[in-house]
Amino acid sequence: YWRLLMNDKRPSGKRKLSDAALVSLSSSSSTSPAELAEPAIKTSKPAMTAATVASKGPVQFGWQNGLKSAMQADGQALFSDDVCVIIADKYPKARHHYLVLPKRQIDSLAQLQRSDASMLKRMLAAAESFIAENNLLPKGFRFGFHAVPSMSQLHMHVISQDFVSTCLKTKKHWLSFTTEFFLDCSLLLQLLESADSSQVASTVEEPRQHRQQHLISSGRLGIRGSGHSASLAIDRAWFSSLSKAGELKCNQCARVAKNMPDLKAHLAGHERT
Ligand code: AMP
Ligand code: ZN
Repeated sequence: YWRLLMNDKRPSGKRKLSDAALVSLSSSSSTSPAELAEPAIKTSKPAMTAATVASKGPVQFGWQNGLKSAMQADGQALFSDDVCVIIADKYPKARHHYLVLPKRQIDSLAQLQRSDASMLKRMLAAAESFIAENNLLPKGFRFGFHAVPSMSQLHMHVISQDFVSTCLKTKKHWLSFTTEFFLDCSLLLQLLESADSSQVASTVEEPRQHRQQHLISSGRLGIRGSGHSASLAIDRAWFSSLSKAGELKCNQCARVAKNMPDLKAHLAGHERT
């Protein structure tokens, strides 16, 4: 990210179509400039100004704080209500890639308490409405969090599963969105809302979440403490290892790619069929 940020010389203050919004507009690579001129993404006027967003504290510098600045920047919000903001991911890893950030300052998943389940639900509902209003297909999306994110301020990825994007470059990018490093919001909700985390397994219906149950039963993901202030506990070292090594398995079929160029060509092929 540091390298990408350093290379990115685009002005950030003025409202402009972000990469993700541009990508969102182009269902094929032959999008005309005229099509790009108008945003296809409907935006709703922020209910609160940037000053009310994610703490009224001082501006924080450093690339890890880039999302805090982005969510506060004028004109960046594609959606905003009293709970959260939706912005376009600046380096989208798929045709449609957005970030949902709570307005309250929450640095990471480990700060999420049981009482935050309602906020997560609002974030998920906002994301679902956003993609529905923009006529994107909810079935083609995942809504979730990187177990060990690189950027500060909690952010939920809303990402289409085509993974066709020039910004998808590294093995780590791929593994972070396609292995269990990517934690579905609904799984975290189940965990936060369950009185006993061992009960989660029997209540989840989605096949993917069913497969993710071993994360909880093996203690990689759990609840620390008790009562209302009990919070999420994440085995950071174990999750980190998932994003560092592993095969480049396609998310849409059983093929294992030899390298990133091979994977990207393969993913583009899925789009054509
Ligand atoms: P992670 O911290 O791994 O969950 O991912 C952070 C995400 O933020 C990545 O998908 C980046 O492409 C994205 N990103 C980094 N800087 C910005 C920014 N200034 N505005 C919007 N998205 C950003
Ligand atoms: Zn495939």
